[in-house]
Amino acid sequence: KSIVYWMRMGDLRTVDNRALAAASQQAAGDKLPLVVLFVLSPQDYLAHDRSKRRIDFVLRNLSVIKVSLAELNIPLHTISHTIRRTLPSKLMSFLESLQCTQLFANMEYEVDELRRDLQILALSKEKGIRPHYFQDRCIIDPGIVKTKDGKAHTVYSPYQRTWIATLNENLDTYLEESPLPQANASTIHEDPILGPLFSTPVPDFVDGFQLDPADRSTMANVWPAGSTAAQEILSRFLNTKSRPSQLGAADPLADGAEQSDKCSRILVYGEQRDRGDRDTTSRLSPYLSAGVISARQCVRATMSLTGLTKVDAGKTTGIGRWVQELAWRDFYTNVLAHFPRVSMGRPFQEKLADVRWEVDEEHLTAWKQGATGIPIVDAAMRQMNTMGWLHNRMRMIVAMFLSKDLMLDWRLGERYFMEQLVDGDLASNNGGWQWSASTGVDPAPYFRIFNPYIQSSKADPTGDYIRTFVPELKSLKGPEIHNPPIKVADKLGYPRPIVVHAEVRERAIRRYKNPGQE
Ligand code: FAD
Repeated sequence: KSIVYWMRMGDLRTVDNRALAAASQQAAGDKLPLVVLFVLSPQDYLAHDRSKRRIDFVLRNLSVIKVSLAELNIPLHTISHTIRRTLPSKLMSFLESLQCTQLFANMEYEVDELRRDLQILALSKEKGIRPHYFQDRCIIDPGIVKTKDGKAHTVYSPYQRTWIATLNENLDTYLEESPLPQANASTIHEDPILGPLFSTPVPDFVDGFQLDPADRSTMANVWPAGSTAAQEILSRFLNTKSRPSQLGAADPLADGAEQSDKCSRILVYGEQRDRGDRDTTSRLSPYLSAGVISARQCVRATMSLTGLTKVDAGKTTGIGRWVQELAWRDFYTNVLAHFPRVSMGRPFQEKLADVRWEVDEEHLTAWKQGATGIPIVDAAMRQMNTMGWLHNRMRMIVAMFLSKDLMLDWRLGERYFMEQLVDGDLASNNGGWQWSASTGVDPAPYFRIFNPYIQSSKADPTGDYIRTFVPELKSLKGPEIHNPPIKVADKLGYPRPIVVHAEVRERAIRRYKNPGQE
């Protein structure tokens, strides 16, 4: 007999993992061996537009976890499954082969995954296996923070105020660190069924999601796998002294940053976080969305830094501002859990479902390739295409540009982001896209359209960001880098702008004002 913990794509860690800790406790109590299972499901990855980078990141993390679990005599076993619809029955057969008595997992809030888990609940009852689902993704679980009328918040500020009050009143509940799993008896290695699970390797790739070797090694440098790497990135953000080069040569912005080594990034986060030309943010999103580090741990780390007994989420310190970003992550997950339509390709603001979009493959391709002739947009898209990651302000600029200046359906952009990002997360990505396209919860008002040139001079005042990712413009100094004169651009082989911002801005306002018309 055995106890199984089913590790999902968003909980790739052994430290501070609620379902894993509970499974381990159960196994110890029942004197049964614990098995960790991971199911690779390429059809699910296709359906969710998962990027090759993300799948590669998952596999690299699983390899690290396999080694650390083996030290505790816990096997991590991966099974590959092709037909997503039959995953629940395949899982059940596998659990039966292990004589599993209880199954543990952390919840996933996306609609398809919730439906799958409901099926598993029903099937496991038939098979006499007890399932246990835990909430582990957020700092405060979806459904807890509500409006006075008991409804889900659809505006961030009041959500965040209730969120911080709820958190500070229940710190032990929400920030408690789950214990590490306990070791299995070493005799498990001799077990004819469980012993062989130790020797099945984590595959190097999943069919259809294979990165070419050069990309794979870039990714391994830029986004190293494992909880220890995530910890280092967190301390690099929090501490003044240690600043190991996370991104090395692959990211020229990482070193020689203007903000001084005397001051940690988090302390100046409030003032500097919108700067794309400097390495100003934590760059923890790939680790948070894959669950390589828990959001709880990030909050606990800020408390150690402030030395306070309460969590600071105020606007006056960089630390508080950063905690507010973690609250955005909870907010969008809460929205996803309450309004399933957002994960079904529908706008949150249903009245904007009929906004008329352009159909223009050439513009879409230019946007994807970073060849729009608007330097900040091109720099951002090229950064994403190389690193699989993008600074938040840059995400907003390119998303606003696609949905307002090009008037292309925001869902095309949302999908392209998922296909490229290493940190792709349905809730945050959809939230960010619907914010930019003015169709979401608490969105940017449709008439407040970013002027990409003004945004560029604010987010990249030195021009270093553009120079790094748009080498054609490397020789330009001063403000003309943001909007190079046509003659200069032609000479440098840089494309002319594909739209004139002032003109297309009016079109967007008209169409948003009268959805369904024109
Ligand atoms: P930091 O500034 O250091 O913030 C710390 C953490 O807080 C982040 O790692 C992230 O987990 C969370 N966070 C910060 N800002 C936001 C936000 N606006 N919404 C939700 N969580 C936030 N984030 C993703 O993790 N995955 C996505 O797929 C994703 N897609 C986005 C698409 C668009 C169009 C936009 C505008 C934003 C998107 N974001 C997404 C949110 C945000 O841009 C990234 O989380 C952030 O840039 C990651 O960098 P960081 O880790 O250095 O962030």
